[in-house]
Amino acid sequence: MIYHSTRSASLRADSAHAVLEGLAADGGLYVPQALPKFDWKKCLEGSAMDMAVDILSALLPDIPNMQELVRRAYTGKFATEELTPTVPVGDFHVLELFHGPTSAFKDVALCMLPQLLTAARSAKGVKEDILILTATSGDTGKAALEGFKDVDGIKICVFYPDGGVSQVQRAQMVTQEGNNVTVCAVKGNFDDAQTGVKQIFAACRDKELPNRLSSANSINIGRLAPQIMYYFKAYRDLLDAGEIKMGDEVNFSVPTGNFGDILAGYLAKKLGLPVGRLICASNANNVLTDFIRTGTYDRMRPLYKTTSPSMDILVSSNLERLLYLLSGDTELVAGLMKQLSENGSYTVPADLLSAIQEQFWADFCDDAGANTVMGKVWQKYHYVCDPHTAAGWMAAENYVNQTGDDRAMVVLSTASPYKFPEAVLTAIGEVPAGDGFDQMEQLNAATGVAIPKNLASLRTKAERHTGVIEKTEMLDFVLGL
Ligand SMILES: *Cc1c(COP(=O)(O)O)cnc(C)c1O
Repeated sequence: MIYHSTRSASLRADSAHAVLEGLAADGGLYVPQALPKFDWKKCLEGSAMDMAVDILSALLPDIPNMQELVRRAYTGKFATEELTPTVPVGDFHVLELFHGPTSAFKDVALCMLPQLLTAARSAKGVKEDILILTATSGDTGKAALEGFKDVDGIKICVFYPDGGVSQVQRAQMVTQEGNNVTVCAVKGNFDDAQTGVKQIFAACRDKELPNRLSSANSINIGRLAPQIMYYFKAYRDLLDAGEIKMGDEVNFSVPTGNFGDILAGYLAKKLGLPVGRLICASNANNVLTDFIRTGTYDRMRPLYKTTSPSMDILVSSNLERLLYLLSGDTELVAGLMKQLSENGSYTVPADLLSAIQEQFWADFCDDAGANTVMGKVWQKYHYVCDPHTAAGWMAAENYVNQTGDDRAMVVLSTASPYKFPEAVLTAIGEVPAGDGFDQMEQLNAATGVAIPKNLASLRTKAERHTGVIEKTEMLDFVLGL
């Protein structure tokens, strides 16, 4: 199957090559030239892992033995066999994506990516080691480290914004074990770290490096594709629960940062799944809300630190894929991305804006709003959700109230509340005391919800990666690895 860059149709790669490379040579993202024919009804019949096999075989046909890769990726790694359960909460259905090894939704993709990358590496006969370079706003880093640790032929280096992640998230990363892992803080915010990583890719393209670079960010199609599975899984759960009939459309509200998760929902729809509206939920960093409402993307604004740090992003990389998928125009996309990097903003043509608005709806909620939602959901339904999920819940509610759309609504829950215990405790009316670990126990005592094992064990682990560098030092840091 042929992929090509969002910025040039002549820059092509097969699916194994696209996974190996991450980003296309012109800085664009790989998109399928045409989506494969897909039997979506048959896909709904299997287990979550069967669904992953069907979807990944269809989208990444140049990577062999998909069934075995999926088995290795997920077996025994999640707290539940079904990987991503759906639970009814009030009028909505919450799709819990956080039962993996690091308690964030990114585990679904990052358990799979190392398998895909290793298989792509053999398929392409690549001999040199691969260096995974990743910028994280908090959750990607840990999920990637855990996924890639001790994988043969691969090294991983993660940069996170110094002071830009929660105490628990930091502890998860700096205590990372494994003989092929590096973690370093960068003075700056997530966008600085992500820009730094993109610059390293650009700088290293022409240089002879001992390692081949690749990325674990959702710019890699091998990271994006595994996320499609849980939209099918949620649909199947709603069928099984008698909430919908086969063929009924379902709306999904998605806490959004880099636009990877929600784009996977759009790809699920393109593969045939009856998806209604995709609701893009942001926090106070509401650049996507403005974009989807007005057609103007403007990153020239302050980046706020919020209680939902994984969504503290001003440049949502995967939006570029959507612009291509809805316009089919690489020249247009290349032009818009040039404007974004040169002027910090762009405006899409009116017909593209209406195509976007037909599929997506957007809203945002600030920290106070998330606090209110977490409190209300706890008081009314005895369900504890994290601040990212709260943004999704609020957007879903506002959508229903403003449009009257009564199709079934799935809210994606992207992190365990135990990753953000301070914000959650405050919201449910407790006074947080002590450090993040004390607060986890306090949250457990207040709600009775079990602390995920991987988080409970963090407190006693030694810190192994405590370096902090300037953003201008990132390239040298990587060259020195
Ligand atoms: C990464 C992340 C998001 C945002 O997902 P994108 O694919 O970047 O849009 C939302 N919530 C949590 C908890 C995350 O870790």
